[in-house]
Amino acid sequence: MKQTKVALITGITSQDGSYLADLLLKKGYKVIGTIRRSTSTVRPNIEHLKGKVILEAADLTDQESINQVIIKHQPDEVYNIAAQSVPADSWTHPFYTGEVTALGPVRVFEAVRHFCPKARIYQATSREILGGVKGIEHANESTPIFANNPYGIAKAYAHMMVSCYRQSYGMFVCGGILFNHESPRRSLHFVTRKISTGVACIKLGIKNPPINEIGEPLVDKNNKIHLGDLNATRDWGYAKEYVEAMWLMLQHPTPKDYIIGTNTSYSIKDACKAAFDHVGLNWEDHVISDSKLLRPTEITDMMGDYSLAKKELGWEPKTFMKELMGIMVDADLDLLKNQS
Ligand code: NAP
Repeated sequence: MKQTKVALITGITSQDGSYLADLLLKKGYKVIGTIRRSTSTVRPNIEHLKGKVILEAADLTDQESINQVIIKHQPDEVYNIAAQSVPADSWTHPFYTGEVTALGPVRVFEAVRHFCPKARIYQATSREILGGVKGIEHANESTPIFANNPYGIAKAYAHMMVSCYRQSYGMFVCGGILFNHESPRRSLHFVTRKISTGVACIKLGIKNPPINEIGEPLVDKNNKIHLGDLNATRDWGYAKEYVEAMWLMLQHPTPKDYIIGTNTSYSIKDACKAAFDHVGLNWEDHVISDSKLLRPTEITDMMGDYSLAKKELGWEPKTFMKELMGIMVDADLDLLKNQS
């Protein structure tokens, strides 16, 4: 009889996938993680996991590659974390976003249905499925889906498939409607990591900062970080805590969808202030809004009411925006200090 629980994480190189692997290893799971076929072998988020997890190549656009991993490892739990995860890129890549972020999860659900039907599945839904909802301050599980960008719409399709697979096939599938969550492992495509890396570059006087998503230096010659809409707001939590909620969902007797957030809202300006204050600098001297980085549509201001997760899973956030920005700035200072 199988003793050790087996977990499969698609997209183990991600921020969430790597923290989830840390958590599951600590809990004694055998962890299988999928990586994409790539000519690059640089995967900073999972360097520390070498030898501790089994890596398999699979792509969410390739049904056969997913089938093979499921057939081979017969996981007890499947965490579908992989996605084209960058909302800002979804306007330039609408077809690819649909293929990976909308249809990719269905490929995973189908592989489980056919080859390992007892496995429990976690699907990484996003608060972006509620992107255009107006007049609701605190989103909960009953807030209507109203996505307003290609990424959110792809996630909305996948999320509706979660309940479809529950109802149609009686499968154990949960959708985690996660609000933004950040950490030192966050990709540089996202604003909090751009801020923390920019702050570290400015503080350390880094001459050759990383480039941003439009191929320009993250920090310009005048020591300014270029960002999009500084008044846009987000509910930001700590990724390390959010992966615990994913695991808890799959331990609950009944499969359900849960909102995971901090029930707070801050603007990009607030996050800049927290990060620059952390190193004794004035954010207004170092941040500009660049029209080239504005999204064609913004999501509306909303906070994630996690009451149901607290009541049924015993989950609640512990780290909030200000402390989180401090953690990220410290980590980037540490990472970059040898390059100054
Ligand atoms: P992330 O760091 O951006 O990583 C995305 C992952 O997906 C990477 O491992 C990437 O592999 C993989 N991937 C991309 N395309 C793929 C494909 N075609 N086939 C297989 N793998 C592919 O993600 P994250 O921020 O940790 O987020 C994790 C999940 O939660 C994502 O589904 C995201 O959309 C969702 N989510 C995130 C947030 C948030 O605030 N972080 C909020 C709500 C929902 P490579 O390393 O090869 O690129």
